[in-house]
Amino acid sequence: MRIVLLGPPGAGKGTQAKRLADKLRLAHISTGDILRQNVSTGTDLGKQAKSFMDQGALVPDTLVTRMLEERLIQADVQNGFILDGYPRNLAQAQDLDKILQRLKLDITTVFYLDTSTGTIIQRLTGRLVCKTCGANFHIKNMPPKIKGTCDACGGKLYQRSDDNADTIKTRLDVYKKEAVSLLEYYKSKNQLVSLSADGDADVVLDKMLEYINDSHKKC
Ligand code: AMP
Repeated sequence: MRIVLLGPPGAGKGTQAKRLADKLRLAHISTGDILRQNVSTGTDLGKQAKSFMDQGALVPDTLVTRMLEERLIQADVQNGFILDGYPRNLAQAQDLDKILQRLKLDITTVFYLDTSTGTIIQRLTGRLVCKTCGANFHIKNMPPKIKGTCDACGGKLYQRSDDNADTIKTRLDVYKKEAVSLLEYYKSKNQLVSLSADGDADVVLDKMLEYINDSHKKC
């Protein structure tokens, strides 16, 4: 199974991708996580990506697409994957199709996590992320049991540097500019499944699992 999660920053793509990946035993591929890893270890890619990420702008397609292609040929991806944060624009969607065509694979479903601006701002300004395993928490909605510590692995929680009001605004503007053509693309290919993602994370996950189960039965 190969699933793509689309939605604005703060839609819950990371949280849902992690949960779906655990439930369905799929690889979770987050381009944001891979880029942050490259920035923190100081690779050439990280050095090239950092200023774009700091501003909330997209890292150039060529860099991200090459990085994704390298990830998609790794062994743990062969049982299927969930893509979180890629594609971000129409060119990336077309590149993804070309990569998958070369690998003789296709996309099973594209979930669009439709989220209101109020929810996005509220989620991003309170988001906490585990430095070790990447699990997401929220200061109010989903606080960790022990302050500053990840429930899942005991790692240290931090606030992402791009989760500040100015950068959030740029990220949302970038998203809005690219979203229409991206969503149209998958709609025209009959792959798009839209869900409201304003509610509780468990409810959103259940809706996705229900859809996956139902479409599995039909096959
Ligand atoms: P995310 O963790 O998905 O919110 O991504 C954090 C940042 O990484 C974004 O604001 C972009 O700067 C960069 N990024 C992640 N994925 C992509 C992508 N597919 N294309 C371009 N830039 C990306």
